[in-house]
Amino acid sequence: MTADIITIGDELLIGQVVDTNSSWIARQLNLAGISIRCRTAVGDKAEQITEALDTAIVHSDIVIITGGLGPTRDDLTKQTLARWLGVELVFDRATFDRVERLLTSRGIDPGGINRSQAMLPEGCRILPNDLGTAPGMWMEREGRVIISLPGVPFEMKGLMEGQVLGMLRERFPTESIIHRTALCFGLAESTLAERIESWEDALPHWLRLAYLPNPSGVRLRLSAYGVDPLLAGREIDERFERLRQLVPDYFVGFYDSVNQAVADLLTASGHTLAVAESCTGGAISASLTAMAGASAYLLGSVVSYSNELKQSVLAVDAGDLERYGAVSRQVAEQMAVGVRRLCNSDYALATTGIAGPGGGTPLKPVGTVWIAVATPSELFSHMIRLGDLREQNIARASASAVNMLRLLLIGRPEVATSDGLL
Ligand code: ATP
Ligand code: MG
Repeated sequence: MTADIITIGDELLIGQVVDTNSSWIARQLNLAGISIRCRTAVGDKAEQITEALDTAIVHSDIVIITGGLGPTRDDLTKQTLARWLGVELVFDRATFDRVERLLTSRGIDPGGINRSQAMLPEGCRILPNDLGTAPGMWMEREGRVIISLPGVPFEMKGLMEGQVLGMLRERFPTESIIHRTALCFGLAESTLAERIESWEDALPHWLRLAYLPNPSGVRLRLSAYGVDPLLAGREIDERFERLRQLVPDYFVGFYDSVNQAVADLLTASGHTLAVAESCTGGAISASLTAMAGASAYLLGSVVSYSNELKQSVLAVDAGDLERYGAVSRQVAEQMAVGVRRLCNSDYALATTGIAGPGGGTPLKPVGTVWIAVATPSELFSHMIRLGDLREQNIARASASAVNMLRLLLIGRPEVATSDGLL
């Protein structure tokens, strides 16, 4: 069972809007046991939409389209679909009444233009949309299903979850698809691949491995298609357990980021954290607070970008700032100690570095970052060298700092401060 996803809108082609609809739908279909054959983004042009439909329908049982259902002239999906199916657009009274009710309840005059929202391809099954004015549509052609949904992400999700996924499950018998993803941190993708080569070679042919690197580490995904889900699940668990034994210092667990691992560790132990950030500019605090439940362990943070603030708020020594510079072991350690005292936390994390592009020196090039962690009884610090790109450096330094804390929380101080660690 395969599906094609077509997302429509000039804004997607020029990169103004990121096509999150397509990835979200792909994930949901996968969970429902439907494989994705192809994802296509096309502009607001009838020929492009028609061409994409012509290709998709040849290869896939299901075609899901989003976007272009609005009442304005640039929205062409309905007209194009009707022409492609060889039917007329016809007025649907129930949809019209629904749109009128929705707009009136929001204090908007329904007006003429919204009447077009009730013009739908003849014979399509209408999927009422409680969250907006454009209904979804379910159409069939030669045993294939074509589903058209609004482009607005929350409306599309409402229709998928409320109606489409259930209808697809009824309509098509699906095979089981299992994905499980584990996170590794501290080794570059290529180094990790070398280290686990024998493990990878020994995987059974029906398990597919994917490497997914990002600043938050390298995620490894094992996927099984069309096999007994219980057996496959057990096999995947065993394989990941072997992987953990092979690279214990780098295997974080079944997380998307090291932040999630640290959040779990701190929450479970009931310990608290404070953060002092210079070069990461609040990125660590922002990513921790982006996860629900952060208040269980995060007391607060100080973004101390200037030397003055490092002194006045975190009690960093003026002489040390002068002698060693802001990017130094001494300053990172004093920032951690200072913020721990200020917030009265169990643990504290501090970063100070040169994010770039300017500010580097021969001794301290761009990408030099000092990280310090103060624990209830000890103080650790470690320097990492990153690249030239500011955005990457901030993301990478943030993740490395959190990973250093993670290693200390699980009792691996020698790894936390080892030079081989990225
Ligand atoms: P409406 O009835 O609101 O006009 P529509 O089906 O015409 O819905 P579009 O006009 O294509 O939808 O898109 C509406 C908005 O939804 C866009 O401005 C964009 O922000 C968002 N959007 C559209 N397509 C996608 C997509 N593939 N991924 C993420 N966001 C999208
Ligand atoms: Mg549009």
